[in-house]
Amino acid sequence: MKIAILSRNPRLYSTRRLIEAAEERGHEVRVLDVLRCYMNIASNNPEVHYKGEELEDFDAVIPRIGASITFYGSAVLRQFEMMGTFPLNESVAISRSRDKLRSLQLLSRKGIGLPVTGFAHRPDDVEDLIKMVGGAPLVIKLLEGTQGIGVVLAETKQAAESVIEAFMGTKTNILVQEYIREANGADIRCLVIGDKVVAAMKRQGKEGEFRSNLHRGGSASLIRITPEERSTAVRAAKTMGLNVAGVDLLRSNHGAVVMEVNSSPGLEGIETATGKDIASMQIQFIEKKLAERRTKRGLT
Ligand code: ADP
Ligand code: GLU
Repeated sequence: MKIAILSRNPRLYSTRRLIEAAEERGHEVRVLDVLRCYMNIASNNPEVHYKGEELEDFDAVIPRIGASITFYGSAVLRQFEMMGTFPLNESVAISRSRDKLRSLQLLSRKGIGLPVTGFAHRPDDVEDLIKMVGGAPLVIKLLEGTQGIGVVLAETKQAAESVIEAFMGTKTNILVQEYIREANGADIRCLVIGDKVVAAMKRQGKEGEFRSNLHRGGSASLIRITPEERSTAVRAAKTMGLNVAGVDLLRSNHGAVVMEVNSSPGLEGIETATGKDIASMQIQFIEKKLAERRTKRGLT
């Protein structure tokens, strides 16, 4: 197969591992910087050009599109889709998952467990917003935050009010969420491929920290998850339409709740914690899907 990896940097751990895994399995791989791709959309013969050359056909494309370039990145991915290239994750699913509110709305419609969550832009009645999600303690999040930055725990109603008011001054959208204290500063990252959780790790925040992000000093370890947690993670990925996803769960006393579904899950933490070759599993998934496609088209 000829595989394109859309990534801004071939030296990143996840990109390197995907290149290695694809080459080990005998495929030809090319890394493309998505921001350098340009395209024609006016004709019925879609093309992607790169550094002055028209790219030949790829069988599959692996998108590793960072959150900050979601808009242009998904347009390039869509162009590959129009050319008949198989995307490991579809552009529409990636854009969907990058919109946190839309994601939570879709997950709730499917009855998937979520922390009680409210969202607001400029509420006139902050007290009512707090009441609506069950009162303090509360977690307040800036919608545009990543790596745990912009995630605040407000222990009291007064603290919650002043944090919400402060965030309102920054003119961004905020999310107000039930605090899952019983998670004890830990969350579970489930790596989903197709309809299976292929690996799971527990991330524990450092002493005195409720945020478990590895970027915030958290540490990762192996964990056994329950069949319910498995099925919640798989359903969450399916709801978003993602073949590959990093589903983050919190263990609450009303069962596992989904915090986030990531469409470009990083491989370093999970491969290190579990010792599993997740990169190779993604390549094997592509091989299986392409074989199914060929059978469907009667090409075998
Ligand atoms: P980011 O996307 O910036 O990582 P998250 O929403 O994942 O932000 O929050 C960062 C961390 O804070 C999570 O990994 C989790 O450990 C903790 N956390 C987030 N929301 C809650 C919550 N409602 N209850 C308890 N802990 C939470
Ligand atoms: N690499 C990030 C993670 O594993 C996810 C990025 C994204 O899909 O938005 O948490």
